Amino acid sequence: MVVQNIAENLAGIKEAIRQACVKSGRDTDTIKLIAVSKNFSGAEIEAAYRAGQRFFGENRVQELNAKIDLLPPEIEWHFIGTLQRNKVKNLIGKTALIHSVDSQALAEEINKQAQKRALLVDVLLQVNIARETTKHGFEAEKLIEQIEEISKLSGIKIKGLMTIAPLVENPEEARPVFRELRMLAQTIERMNLPTVEMRELSMGMSHDFQVAVEEGATLVRIGSGIFGRRNY
Ligand SMILES: *Cc1c(COP(=O)(O)O)cnc(C)c1O
Repeated sequence: MVVQNIAENLAGIKEAIRQACVKSGRDTDTIKLIAVSKNFSGAEIEAAYRAGQRFFGENRVQELNAKIDLLPPEIEWHFIGTLQRNKVKNLIGKTALIHSVDSQALAEEINKQAQKRALLVDVLLQVNIARETTKHGFEAEKLIEQIEEISKLSGIKIKGLMTIAPLVENPEEARPVFRELRMLAQTIERMNLPTVEMRELSMGMSHDFQVAVEEGATLVRIGSGIFGRRNY
């Protein structure tokens, strides 16, 4: 990816977020753009950094740690990928937010490791709204059943919800998924659990973030729209 293009792409995404905000009567300051840098190099991240980007998302613990060592300490890192329980101890303390807590067992492991180190770890709970078998996350009904128990874990702080919408041709088709996540957050908010905040909705990727912003996203996770196509 040419460095120049990364700056241009970032500007284009920000403009598209602004337009989605105008359309839905939202304030752009309420949306944080997470540049998903998985599979991209330190040089590419630095190009985005020089263009003013400060929030980056990674989906592998080892890759994240390597990049933290290499890149400016001003970067705020977000973990967005499937997290194996045996990797938790190498992750906590490194991120501003773990978006992808997808089970009670994972929440319990993060809590255990956090308590050992006297940390309070900010997390989002990942919900499999569309019930895709290929995707991780709580089912909405199960989350409603389990969240009170999870909220008692004193080493984690629940800040909101995250979802990944199905990959569809027309981003409008993802709208009901985003809307359902927002409504689930409202349902949970009404449960009035003292330690649970439902401020953040992490939803929207390169192909569907404008719809997600219109539906209330506070964190959008954008990779290819900034860095170009990934070569897996
Ligand atoms: C890779 C990834 C993204 C970014 O996807 P793009 O389509 O490249 O914008 C967002 N969220 C998660 C969880 C991801 O794994």
